Amino acid sequence: MQDEPNGSLRGKRQGFDYLIVGAGFAGSVLAERLAAGLGKRVLLIDRRPHIGGNAYDHYDDDGILVHRYGPHIFHTNSQRIVDYLSRFTKWRPYEHRVLAEVDGRQVPIPINRITLNLLYGLALDEAGAADFLAARAEPVAEIRSSEDVVVNQVGRELYEKFFRGYTRKQWGLDPSQLDRSVTARVPTRTSDDDRYFTDSFQQMPLHGYTRMFERMLDHRNIKILLNTDYREICKAVRYRHLVYCGPIDEYFDHCYGRLPYRSLQFHHETLDREQLQPVAVVNYPAEDVPWTRITEYKHLTGQRHHKTSITYEYPSAEGEPYYPIPRQENTELYRRYQALADATQGVTFLGRLGTYKYYNMDQVVGQALALYKRIKEDERCAAPD
Ligand code: FAD
Ligand code: UDP
Repeated sequence: MQDEPNGSLRGKRQGFDYLIVGAGFAGSVLAERLAAGLGKRVLLIDRRPHIGGNAYDHYDDDGILVHRYGPHIFHTNSQRIVDYLSRFTKWRPYEHRVLAEVDGRQVPIPINRITLNLLYGLALDEAGAADFLAARAEPVAEIRSSEDVVVNQVGRELYEKFFRGYTRKQWGLDPSQLDRSVTARVPTRTSDDDRYFTDSFQQMPLHGYTRMFERMLDHRNIKILLNTDYREICKAVRYRHLVYCGPIDEYFDHCYGRLPYRSLQFHHETLDREQLQPVAVVNYPAEDVPWTRITEYKHLTGQRHHKTSITYEYPSAEGEPYYPIPRQENTELYRRYQALADATQGVTFLGRLGTYKYYNMDQVVGQALALYKRIKEDERCAAPD
């Protein structure tokens, strides 16, 4: 329910139980649970002109459903999270496949048997692929960095072809300077399985993410204010508790210094042809290509249209904070903010920016549901017998 431009903020006089900053997965799931599960009055705000956070999708000028902030593919191993989201959407089966442009041809990533055979003109079977990789792998005694992870599995040549350039572009850092967790997201396989994810549930919201968010937030106890920064209204609104899903360092006026985030510039285009590429995402690891990947949305949504819409992603240091950067010194700085947060009454931090974690959508949903459970248990303990 969105507020009328001139309408009064229902609940303003008596105040809200919760002010939630950020209408992405974190804030929206929590708002829904608090409103529908506990009957709380919630004011949900976002400084952007829409709900959904980075998962926001919309129909572009040509009527093609696109993701404004790059490709969002839903995958999870948690039935609980699927059950929860299924209250607000039906699903469309979709298994994500990605190609990487290497040595002038497009080959599957994660590296698998097909990748090796295409790249080296071989006809390896699964055991042959395992031997091929074992012969090239450079065992690393203690795997600490994103370089170690890959070199240890596939050796330096494949590391350089697929990972070094892409990672340097994406993060503005060499893989040797990033936590192992970053490139460990992408496995190596000796089978023919060329799916990007192996999760038990891989489906897209049938009518898109925004429609799912609209249904989630359609509750009389939830008020939504868009185009509204927390700082503009924090003094004007009465509430008992704040849940903050924006960058935690910004909330504390960067008092310990800025937490680094990586940003992206999205270049959206609609082409007067039915299809551009064979799969939804093609990665470009070469360092002399300025973008990291191109997404073609119709593969994700199954939409039929005589045109096709695509997005180029150009990583950048400046701009909206999209990615927390996983490395030791940043984790240490985040811990200082976390300690400050723990010592601050009346506010809880949540989500990818609020807890500075490189989380996927399902992990953020899980985090919000876990917070809801804690709030519910606290209320039960506090209730008189
Ligand atoms: P966000 O979605 O970032 O929402 C936070 C909201 O808070 C924003 O809308 C922001 O405007 C608002 N906000 C911040 N500060 C303020 C303020 N002061 N006042 C008011 N509002 C404020 N995950 C997957 O599972 N699969 C994928 O394929 C996938 N692809 C991705 C691709 C890209 C390019 C990116 C950047 C992320 C991708 N993710 C993917 C991750 C996914 O986007 C996040 O896990 C999820 O959206 C995080 O939800 P959130 O609510 O924590 O944060
Ligand atoms: N990566 C890479 N080459 C690829 C794909 C991924 O080097 O072709 C590295 C890169 O550092 C990237 C990380 O692996 O940031 C995680 O990839 P993922 O596709 O999970 O990134 P996201 O979708 O979160 O941007």
